[in-house]
Amino acid sequence: MQRFVEQELYGWGRFPRIHTQIARPELRGDLLAALKERESSPMLACGNLRSYGDQALLSDGKQISTLRLNRFLDFDEETGWLRCEAGVLLEEIIDVFLPRGFFPPVVPGTKLITVGGAIGNDIHGKNHHVDGTFCDHIRNVEILLGSGEIVFCDAEHNADLFWATVGGMGLTGIILSAEVQLTKVPSPFIDMESIRVENLDHFFEVSEASAEFTHAVSWIDCVATGEHMGRGIFMRGRPAEEGETREDNFIERAIKLAKPILELPVDLPNWVMGKAFMKVFNEVYYRKQMKAYTRTLSKIDPFFFPLDFVRGWNRGYGPRGFLQYQFVVPADPEHRVIREALSEISKTGMASFLAVIKEFGDRDHGGLSFPRGGVTLAMDFPNFGAPLFELFDRLDDLVIEAGGRVYLGKDARLSKEHFQKMYPNWAQWKETRDKWDPDGVFESDLGRRLGLVGAAS
Ligand SMILES: Cc1cc2nc3c(=O)[nH]c(=O)nc-3n(C[C@H](O)[C@H](O)[C@H](O)COP(=O)(O)OP(=O)(O)OC[C@H]3O[C@@H](n4cnc5c(N)ncnc54)[C@H](O)[C@@H]3O)c2cc1C
Repeated sequence: MQRFVEQELYGWGRFPRIHTQIARPELRGDLLAALKERESSPMLACGNLRSYGDQALLSDGKQISTLRLNRFLDFDEETGWLRCEAGVLLEEIIDVFLPRGFFPPVVPGTKLITVGGAIGNDIHGKNHHVDGTFCDHIRNVEILLGSGEIVFCDAEHNADLFWATVGGMGLTGIILSAEVQLTKVPSPFIDMESIRVENLDHFFEVSEASAEFTHAVSWIDCVATGEHMGRGIFMRGRPAEEGETREDNFIERAIKLAKPILELPVDLPNWVMGKAFMKVFNEVYYRKQMKAYTRTLSKIDPFFFPLDFVRGWNRGYGPRGFLQYQFVVPADPEHRVIREALSEISKTGMASFLAVIKEFGDRDHGGLSFPRGGVTLAMDFPNFGAPLFELFDRLDDLVIEAGGRVYLGKDARLSKEHFQKMYPNWAQWKETRDKWDPDGVFESDLGRRLGLVGAAS
């Protein structure tokens, strides 16, 4: 039986693209057989390939898609603990458990990611300041090691493996299952407020005044300069009370009808997402918030996953693909790095289509987990090639100087030198990984680039 097939793979940014061999096992037995069949090739698990760059990619190796290892295994209605296989999508959890009054504890800007991917990147959401990361709500995981052994780990058993797997990007082994605590929610609605913010100082004022909201995030116009730098729309919310409900409005009904066709079926030409378009988009998006303040009862999807409405929107960047630069820096009363990063970007004219800013709570898992206390800014850029990479290198310098780091889940180009400065306990992480994968079975293109796998760095 031929388990591995040749296929082109890429992450959400569609850069880089590789040709690799991939198997899609449906049962544990198939997965174990695939591990045996690898011979001496390195391996890597991937979920739904929603990480942007090359961390879920492995050139010259064998990949395992977990998407068919997606069973719910156990659920305790009293406590919300769900045990499931790693290939379950957050979308599937929401479809099954939201009608029963439960929601994933942390969700990113798309529900089309797997539980394995959520652990592999220790993802964060709009509620980081209150609830921390996804892995703050994981009790244990079962991992398939390169040796073929299946190991249970949690904070007490094989705790070092548990620690290194949180944000470990698939490099410790293949997560088979996990126990995640779903949050009880009083209703399937969010009591949401949108506030127009005039500049960066205003953003930080509103952010500070939003501590009692469970969810908060802001879109900012990264083209605006001078006194308007950082203007945008701040969105904050909390679960609506039980019984609060409302009918679909006209736009929601139209979206529901159009849902099956809301998909970008072809690549748009590269020029569409050019600099001129970005400028107009940012202006129009800012103006869409006509009033300085609005309060609405929002459904889950438009509040958490607005980008999921157009499936395949990443094709809008054309065949060259796009990159995201997301960093976090410790809080600083002057917000110097955020200001300098925005002015560096506007100097180059390479505006970002979507820029999102948020204040993280004060938690840090260490290892390769990204979130830490401070401010995070995320920006998507068309792949403008060398000038964009040079801009990112300059931004790296600013981030390192301030003691911050970039998010590896969005990365496709960070240098090993910059990485080691951003994640100072990388060596401890690597030592732990090497202990659990002594034969170096698990690799990724990102892991090779950053010196996390293979011979000493
Ligand atoms: C529109 C959009 C919005 C996003 N918003 C956010 C956000 O707000 N916050 C945030 O944190 N992230 C965000 N992301 C990034 C995304 O949440 C992460 O990249 C997530 O890890 C993707 O999960 P996936 O299932 O697609 O995994 P993949 O991208 O396929 O894999 C991600 C990593 O996990 C590893 N992995 C996957 N499955 C397993 C397994 N079973 N065992 C071991 N390792 C495994 C892979 O090797 C890889 O290193 C966003 C992405 C998109 C496209």
